[in-house]
Amino acid sequence: MSLTDATYLDYQATTRLANEAFDAMLPYLNAHFWNPHSAHKLGRAVAASVENARDNVAALMPPGGRVVFTSGATEALNLAIKGSMTPTSIIAVSAIEHAAVLDTADWLAGQGATVIRLPVTPDGLLDLAAAEQLLPDRIDLLAVMQVNNEIGTIQPVEALAEMAHARGGLFLCDAVQGYGRLPAPANADMVAISAHKIHGPKGIGALWVRDGVMLSPLIHGGGQEQGLRSGTLSPALTAGFGAAAKVALARMEDDARHVQHLWQLAIKHFSDWMINGSVEARYKGNLNIRRDGLDVARLMSEVRDVAFSAGSACASGSGRPSHVLRGIGLSDAQAKKLYPFGVGPLYDARRHHIGRRNVKRRRRGNFMITVNFISHDGETEKLVQAQVGDNLLKVAQAAGLPLEGTCEGQMACSTCHVIIDKLWFDKLPRASEDEEDMLDLASGARRTSRLSCQIDLTAELDGLVVHIPTESRSMQGV
Ligand code: PLP
Repeated sequence: MSLTDATYLDYQATTRLANEAFDAMLPYLNAHFWNPHSAHKLGRAVAASVENARDNVAALMPPGGRVVFTSGATEALNLAIKGSMTPTSIIAVSAIEHAAVLDTADWLAGQGATVIRLPVTPDGLLDLAAAEQLLPDRIDLLAVMQVNNEIGTIQPVEALAEMAHARGGLFLCDAVQGYGRLPAPANADMVAISAHKIHGPKGIGALWVRDGVMLSPLIHGGGQEQGLRSGTLSPALTAGFGAAAKVALARMEDDARHVQHLWQLAIKHFSDWMINGSVEARYKGNLNIRRDGLDVARLMSEVRDVAFSAGSACASGSGRPSHVLRGIGLSDAQAKKLYPFGVGPLYDARRHHIGRRNVKRRRRGNFMITVNFISHDGETEKLVQAQVGDNLLKVAQAAGLPLEGTCEGQMACSTCHVIIDKLWFDKLPRASEDEEDMLDLASGARRTSRLSCQIDLTAELDGLVVHIPTESRSMQGV
């Protein structure tokens, strides 16, 4: 089995680059290679693309702040903490923060700062009563993440921001796992995010800073990024980040529905496992489960074609027991019985049980899948059962859908083209360039067009959504 055939369930570690992000990046990797900080026309052209990307990233943030691009969330969190604090500061952090927060706070403690670690409840939520007791009347910074990267719990960040403000402090939110999936924390003072968790490129993130919050730079030099982060920006990375943010904003509701659907499937499959962390206050794209008598290292070596993680990707190679699982009260031995996994918006809905279904197919000889035909205007919908290997056009016609077109073999037909949902588009065999051109010309269609006579159904296409034209062919039979 090739690496790309593996079932990927590690969306908390990273996500696949969205096609839109890839397409947005390409020009800046070749033809438009200019320096965005150059004063000439070419430099200004790419600088404009950087600002456009900044606007797209900011569109998912509250109003009244600015986006500072960094190399990722680790740098953004370092900038936020080291750039706003001094060796006399009082800093509070939750015990289950990412190492980028905990280690930076500890470094400042080494310089003389006071660092208070706030405990979490066994549910993985910050213990508010303990926080009220442990926090002094005045603090300088409280840092709590929005969604935990290991157990997916969602912290009450807005109440925590108020707790920080009531003590005269700033509130920093690591929103890496929540950005683009949940509304941004409205009253945070600084928010750290990372492109590669939302189907953008690796190597870029940002710190959102509320207007009026003063920061000192960590990196000195040419004064780029509003004097906060010197160094030439990569327009390819900013364009990819901007495009991914735009897709995330446009798809937020659809993705949430999709993730909820996957969650339902997952908890059904794993109904006899224990879930770590709150089930309610949780991003449902994260499942972190354990089972007595099961060793995760062994499971990993036995289920090699499923990529899941045991602990956060950053610490899993270190052999260190997870501080998050310790934080919620699990022993090291219990933590070894974990099978955490994450699902993401571009994660294909069915893949999780394709493994199981393929087994069934081999045993039974034939294998049914479902195709969902929806009229372009979205008003009519028909779910059709088809057999793997069937041709899509024939399936539609057999179901009485008025989808015409017998291919004349010369790409001359322009009657049976359909629009395939983006989620499944990548699973289809690639159309030739001629086909794509013809489709675009014939229908003014988006990139997701395909000729239905070209598509033979495979197991991976289970759940395929096909939009069929309504203008020339009515969907009244549907
Ligand atoms: N914070 C959280 C919650 C994360 O999950 C990660 C990445 O795993 C980071 C921070 C660090 O992000 P980056 O990889 O962009 O440095």
